[in-house]
Amino acid sequence: MKKVWFYGLFQITLPSQIQVVKKLQEYIINYEGLKNGSHIFDYVIKDDFFREFFEGETEFSQTDLKATVHLMKDPTMLVFDFEILGTVNSPCDRCLDEYHQPIEIRQKLIVNFGEEDQGDDDTMITLPRSEYEIDLAPYVYDYIMLAIPMKRLCQNDVSESKTCNQEMIEMLKAYQNSGQSSEDTDPRWEALKKLMDNN
Ligand SMILES: [Zn+2]
Repeated sequence: MKKVWFYGLFQITLPSQIQVVKKLQEYIINYEGLKNGSHIFDYVIKDDFFREFFEGETEFSQTDLKATVHLMKDPTMLVFDFEILGTVNSPCDRCLDEYHQPIEIRQKLIVNFGEEDQGDDDTMITLPRSEYEIDLAPYVYDYIMLAIPMKRLCQNDVSESKTCNQEMIEMLKAYQNSGQSSEDTDPRWEALKKLMDNN
């Protein structure tokens, strides 16, 4: 998971992004400046968190997540324990209705120091000794993405009683069988076409 994040790029040109940048800066932990021992970082994750990763567009809405990151620092390593709980709204893959996808994540990340790669994997990374801070945002983002099921369906809804919108499924079937007529001016078809072209 070696990625470079250019949070600073848009600061001057797009005022609306400044807030996001400021918010995501909370995720940058300057561990060098922390005492050995236990530290806790709390985050509230809303839609703007995803927008930062999707250049302004995200299929998720009404994001309501809380992340608690517990850090145990000792002279040789950092151990982060992430707990991310809550819901995100997502369109259902079958009927396109929005549903509340529950998210429940408990993930450990161990940070070692050294110049050599010590076989990094999902739970362990190696940072150079010259490094002094770590950006948790990409990790939080990846954990959330991995926690969202491949099949996003109404039946996953947090209420456990939500079912697919049958009317919509019939419409989608009819649309697929209609040969996708280009003369169709119903705006709902247009919206559907856009959604289906994206899949
Ligand atoms: Zn559905």
